[in-house]
Amino acid sequence: MSRPVPNPGILDIAPYTPGKSPVAEPGRKVFKLSANETPFGPSPHAIAAYKGAADHLEDYPEGTSRVLREAIGRAYGLDPDRIICGAGSDEILNLLAHTYLSPGDEAIATTYGFLVYPIATMANGAKLVIAEEKDFTCDVDAILAKVSPNTKLVWLANPNNPTGTYVPFDEVKRLRANLPEHVILVLDGAYADYVSKNDYESGIELVSTTDNTVVTRTFSKIHGLAALRIGWMFGPAAIVDAMNRIRGPFNTSVPAQLAAVAAIEDTAHVEMSRSFTEQWRGWLTEEFTKLGLTVTPSVCNFVLIHFPTRKGKTAADADAFLTKRGLVLRALNNYGLPDALRMTIGTEEANRLVVDAVADFMAQK
Ligand SMILES: *Cc1c(COP(=O)(O)O)cnc(C)c1O
Repeated sequence: MSRPVPNPGILDIAPYTPGKSPVAEPGRKVFKLSANETPFGPSPHAIAAYKGAADHLEDYPEGTSRVLREAIGRAYGLDPDRIICGAGSDEILNLLAHTYLSPGDEAIATTYGFLVYPIATMANGAKLVIAEEKDFTCDVDAILAKVSPNTKLVWLANPNNPTGTYVPFDEVKRLRANLPEHVILVLDGAYADYVSKNDYESGIELVSTTDNTVVTRTFSKIHGLAALRIGWMFGPAAIVDAMNRIRGPFNTSVPAQLAAVAAIEDTAHVEMSRSFTEQWRGWLTEEFTKLGLTVTPSVCNFVLIHFPTRKGKTAADADAFLTKRGLVLRALNNYGLPDALRMTIGTEEANRLVVDAVADFMAQK
């Protein structure tokens, strides 16, 4: 008897285990601070655009997301023909892997790289090679040391999730300059809008000046449209052309396209969210540090909090304690970070409640 056999690599992928539905003590309000969603929601203009689309749900979308590519082009001064939109940047990352990776190929990611990278790599039969991070930060030399004749692609979230750290633009340029020309450098800028550092750039300039670098961005984070699944990539014309050949002809929906256009044009909403996040990121980092915990310096809308390994004080213990109070953070066992929790920066109320709860947790016998 023979039965259907999945393609090489597919069964090497660990099955996705969704987070448990947390149960808080009765009477506790639940704050979900586990998925890096914005506490502000999208721009009101984006919600209005989404509702407006309801009048014409019988129509197929324009297949190339043209209105959105043009809006992105205006916002960033880019050629819309070199932009491709996807159902979240997840789809873009998978399209990249599907277009450029096959069995025998290698893709490089860093120790605590985003979980989509192994999936997209192995789904195409390629091998994921890990470059060690230093202090929870990408180490360009470690990536370069892993390059082999089979390397086709490098995945780099800058800044990275779940660590929150970033690579200065000089280092990104040095990485690009020392990678072979046939290797695609994927700069995943999902959190780029949150970074306020003079030595950071998402890499759009690098895309314009090389044939082998792409930048992906998303509307799921600062724009607050995660439910609609919409993201984009800016890349060299030849890469965009190749990906467009396998992209589903109607891969983004009309409501998503229109809401995203309104979101990108509401720069005041983005700026409000960015400055709020910066303020509370600093405050949270300070407060957790005062409580004796180590916080990895973050430039994102989340912080990585490291807990002791002492019995009763571990990240798992803290997670259980916080969950009872309705404060849902992200345990990171599947990222190989069992000693840490990732907290998405929430409303002032949520942030203060977490600090109070962690103080109680650390103080308890
Ligand atoms: C959230 C996130 C994304 C965005 O995913 P979408 O599919 O656009 O929602 C991409 N990369 C990283 C590292 C992320 O954390």
